[in-house]
Amino acid sequence: MVRHLDFRNRSMKRLLMCAAAASAALWASTAIGAAADEAARYGAWGFDASAMDAAVSPGDDFYRYAQGKALDTLKIPADRSSYGSFDVLAELSDVRGRAVIEKAAADANASGEEAKVGAFYRAFMDEKTVERLDMAPMSRELAAVKAARTRSAIARLMGRANLGFGSTFFAPGIEEDAKDPDHYAVHLFQAGLGLPDRDYYLKPDFAAKKALYQSYIAQMLTMMKWPDPKGQASAIVALESQIADASWDKVARRQADKTYNPMSLDDLAKAAPGFDWRSFMAGAELGGVDRVVVNENTAFPKIAAIFAKTPIRTLQAWLTFNIADQAAPYLPQRFVEARFTFRNKGLYGQQQIRPRWKRGVLIVGDQLGEAVGKLYVAAYFPPESKAKMEALVQGLRDAMAARIQKVSWMSPETKAKALEKLSKFRVKIGYPDKWRDYSALRITAGDLYGDVERSTAFDWERQVKRLGGPVDKTEWDLTPQTVNAYYNPLGNEIVFPAAILQPPFFDPSADMAVNYGAIGAVIGHETTHGFDDQGRKYDGTGRLADWWTADDAASFQAEAKKLGVLYSAFEALPGQHVNGDLTMGENIADLGGMLMALDAYHASLGGKPAPVIDGLTGDQRFFLAFAQIYRSKRREDYSKMLLVADPHSPDNARVDVVTRNVDAWYDAFDVKPGAKAYLPPEQRARIW
Ligand SMILES: [Zn+2]
Repeated sequence: MVRHLDFRNRSMKRLLMCAAAASAALWASTAIGAAADEAARYGAWGFDASAMDAAVSPGDDFYRYAQGKALDTLKIPADRSSYGSFDVLAELSDVRGRAVIEKAAADANASGEEAKVGAFYRAFMDEKTVERLDMAPMSRELAAVKAARTRSAIARLMGRANLGFGSTFFAPGIEEDAKDPDHYAVHLFQAGLGLPDRDYYLKPDFAAKKALYQSYIAQMLTMMKWPDPKGQASAIVALESQIADASWDKVARRQADKTYNPMSLDDLAKAAPGFDWRSFMAGAELGGVDRVVVNENTAFPKIAAIFAKTPIRTLQAWLTFNIADQAAPYLPQRFVEARFTFRNKGLYGQQQIRPRWKRGVLIVGDQLGEAVGKLYVAAYFPPESKAKMEALVQGLRDAMAARIQKVSWMSPETKAKALEKLSKFRVKIGYPDKWRDYSALRITAGDLYGDVERSTAFDWERQVKRLGGPVDKTEWDLTPQTVNAYYNPLGNEIVFPAAILQPPFFDPSADMAVNYGAIGAVIGHETTHGFDDQGRKYDGTGRLADWWTADDAASFQAEAKKLGVLYSAFEALPGQHVNGDLTMGENIADLGGMLMALDAYHASLGGKPAPVIDGLTGDQRFFLAFAQIYRSKRREDYSKMLLVADPHSPDNARVDVVTRNVDAWYDAFDVKPGAKAYLPPEQRARIW
């Protein structure tokens, strides 16, 4: 269960960009010479004014007004499924990642982690050895699948999937216990689907993708010399379609309270019979654990029943396909090609595979994340950035505190609790104070498959070991070289990796209106997650606890509903709208983030008027900079996937729906009734 396949559930952690986009971003596209190894400044004051389309009225289409000319010339590279501001920065991260990794790989005297980073990369780049070994590295796993002739044995292998390649109908995760966030608990999530979302199995819109999936399974099983590959591919798709039907959808899975269902293993076995939970837990090295938190509790009995009635030979074929699918990037070219042709080209329209070195940087940066991060930070993160960010974060917190005090719909008692929660926010900037220790991990230059397997097992065992102990509050869920940010409600913390602290997000030498419109809005976004429709259900200690009066909760929901209506009306593709419920938390964070950042910008002026630059006022520059960070284009198939699977709204909605709810935006651009984006003041959502 290699992590970059995103099996690991992060539903409780709120990323700025969806995880899929973020990991794809590391597979950047420009040649190494094209992205200069220095942070490019945009324009004279941090914003590329030449990108603006003056022919468009800001009140009609602000996203285009801010950058229409740049959008006209923006091309998605052949080896990507989307391209935009985040990706440009990710390319820089990619090039820098390559520099530190190749330096480690070339250094014959490297020791410790650096030697491991180098050896892992050399293993990936050594295609000759990969071709020569052919399918041999998989032989132990395949023999185990063939030997698993009982359902208990299959359940045990599903548990083992956490320690290497393979998959499972139920995915364990070790995270903070939502009712006791100082301790870890084993969480169990529904799993078992090979397509990006249950909709791909159930909605006619995705029928063509489902058919492609079936051909891909047959192709993989043929390559694995599995008997009756076509018949088994058909059985596997039928099996996963049943699981999809039994599974909760993404809107239901967002509900923090409904997904908290602690129970003993015996009670789980009674509630969801037909699956050998003890064997499964033993396979995952969780044999001694007797209490689990079940997420999608009503789906579990159904999925267990599906498991119980599926023929053993189909379950074996399913496991075999999953091993091949996950191991494919580390196997000979025919496997690499088959996987790319389905997973990237077939599903998302990506035309070309990324060069091997980019794939190597991705996998080493993922499997040895903090070892690479340490090298990255030493080479590329200026220490003064941390101090400057701390000052910005403080400004945003003050703005949020003022907003909480100011909102008219909230009672004084709930306000006091909201302020208490805000005061307990933890902030992490740049990189972890305490780096992960990889000394017990063995990496071998001639054994790519083994390196991936061992590093996956190493990370899982690290998580298993900490069960029972207190939660390590210094841990990070993203590496420093990742262009993203997140809020963790269970730690009540906001986290900003080094790689996002660069232009166009953060540039200490740029105009401050630009900094507040970009990184300021990102800080505000993460802060607001603590007070979005789900984040508000956790208190300042990270505990799932209702601290709201009933009236205040009702007022909050009424305002949130207004916002939901606006997003659900947004047509992302012809005839296809944003799902206002799925994206609710992110939309609230986008709106709150912008408002707070604007307040913080105003406060930073210290009572003086903002300067006018190139004919633009401070507020105008703030909104334009905000629009710029969401500049992007996506291939249509990729957009369709994100519409059903991504809790974030499309980038143009993240700009245009937010601005139309902000009074100051109307003032800044003199937007009057009659403009396409105009909303009468009483229809604007006023949450924070
Ligand atoms: Zn977010």
